[in-house]
Amino acid sequence: MLTMNNVSKIYQTNSVQTHALRDFSLTVNEGEFIAVTGPSGSGKTTFLNIAGLLEPFTSGQYTLDGVDIGGLSDNQTADLRNQKIGYIFQGFNLIPDLNLYENVEVPLRYRGIAAKERKVRIEQCLEQVGLASRAKHLPQQLSGGQQQRVAIARALAGKPRFLLADEPTGNLDSLMARQVMELLEEINKNGATIVMVTHDAELARRAPRNIQVVDGQLADFTLYQGKPSLAA
Ligand code: ADP
Ligand code: ADP
Repeated sequence: MLTMNNVSKIYQTNSVQTHALRDFSLTVNEGEFIAVTGPSGSGKTTFLNIAGLLEPFTSGQYTLDGVDIGGLSDNQTADLRNQKIGYIFQGFNLIPDLNLYENVEVPLRYRGIAAKERKVRIEQCLEQVGLASRAKHLPQQLSGGQQQRVAIARALAGKPRFLLADEPTGNLDSLMARQVMELLEEINKNGATIVMVTHDAELARRAPRNIQVVDGQLADFTLYQGKPSLAA
């Protein structure tokens, strides 16, 4: 479970202060799939980056699976991030001169996972995203949708409980966007909690719960009825 209580984030650039989040409060339960929408500049990425332990917040309280993030050192924060969180970005962020297998392997090496275990996980994850036969290809040999699926495989290889996605379909045409969404739905069914920022209203509606960020605050939310399963 992820809980933010009155979390604020102020960016200070020279003499300019930007209040990116203002007293932002939200609880994300185990197994949820949440779509986050809202105007450009409203604080969605800031929220996701704080949730994903990629950047610190200015005030308030953030608890991830019972751990008070405000009380952690940088190293402890990094460990927790590696244990629990996977990310997917709009631009895929694959390394162009590594093949798919090697791209998925990067974070696993970084975490010190042994070669044998790495191989098992990489093959499993490439299989799950339907790209096992392309393991030796370079990113540029794939379509955008396929590249995003590799990025998802890379995130999954770390076995994250929370998968955070910032505009994962922003660079994809609508067919590929739907395929990526279907993959995310499957990953959610398999147990991962997903928070996805999107501008795509149609994709957002498919998520069981929608929240909207306006002016650094939670504007409105719809709670799913019943258990966190996929919306029809
Ligand atoms: P969104 O994802 O909804 O477009 P962001 O979270 O990226 O919004 O940004 C929220 C506000 O914070 C914007 O006004 C943006 O310009 C500002 N902001 C975001 N990141 C930084 C940063 N690193 N330094 C200064 N201001 C930032
Ligand atoms: P999006 O709208 O897709 O969320 P943005 O263009 O708002 O993305 O921001 C992309 C990244 O650039 C953000 O993650 C943030 O760290 C950085 N950024 C945004 N606004 C500013 C700003 N005013 N000053 C410095 N960095 C910024």
